[in-house]
Amino acid sequence: MNPNLFTRRELLRNSIPVLGGGSVGRAADRDGQVGSESHDVVRTGRQRRYPVRPDGKIAVDGFVKPAWERLKQIIDGTNHAPLKLLIDTHWHWDHTDNNAAFHGVGAGILAHEKTKKRLTESHAFMGMRFSPAPADALPTQTFKDTNRMQANGETLELGYIPAAHTDSDIYVRYQEADVLHCGDVFFNHAYPFIDAQTGGSINGMIAGAEKLLKMADNNTKIVSGHGPLVDKTALANYHEVLVIARDRVQKPKSSEGIEEVVTARPLSEFDADWGKGFMNAEPFLTVVYNTL
Ligand SMILES: [Zn+2]
Repeated sequence: MNPNLFTRRELLRNSIPVLGGGSVGRAADRDGQVGSESHDVVRTGRQRRYPVRPDGKIAVDGFVKPAWERLKQIIDGTNHAPLKLLIDTHWHWDHTDNNAAFHGVGAGILAHEKTKKRLTESHAFMGMRFSPAPADALPTQTFKDTNRMQANGETLELGYIPAAHTDSDIYVRYQEADVLHCGDVFFNHAYPFIDAQTGGSINGMIAGAEKLLKMADNNTKIVSGHGPLVDKTALANYHEVLVIARDRVQKPKSSEGIEEVVTARPLSEFDADWGKGFMNAEPFLTVVYNTL
């Protein structure tokens, strides 16, 4: 996808969550309430509890280069705490394209070790060619399974989700603010894109959604990689559709080719609604088929 094809609305919708001395993300005010006017920003910090000197802002996913000025404006607009850290939820360019820009204003970059590995490689991806990222765009800190940190009165827990949307996915959980950032393991009310070329799979997506569901309760604010802030019900619905898709493709796969499976429209009752996003039924069924 050409970055210039992102509309302004889409650009804003995909803004980043930041935790900091006042936090930005997608859709909530500083006390963690979801705002009605915008779904661009989540403030996960607990400002009233902050000491005089907050630890610094923490952002999750930096989106694409054309979004940088707007994102910086949002981040700077929260307060004067320094921008401390950017967390990449996975290697895809629409989540890591501003790594160097964040780095350039003093932020460290934290990601799963496979995000760093993927960023050092060349990739052919959806008709685009990606060269290895320059050194200043690479994560400065990586982890393998989990990572916990304290910042600004919050506890952040990061954890690996194996072989799901890619092989580099993580979740980010803000424990006190009760916000769960799922990265692209969760596409709200849409067939997800699964990047089989870099280790994604339908069963990994299902296992990932199950893992995320266990971490959420009815009050948890859930951030998907793309789309508005939602709650646990939306994540549960998404998990259910993934399981149905897997089960309806798995059975005929033993005797039928991909063309027959797609032609049979096994997800016909969902296609109009769930296929109108980034993926329609055919590419989704194809990647489900190919990764089973
Ligand atoms: Zn992605």
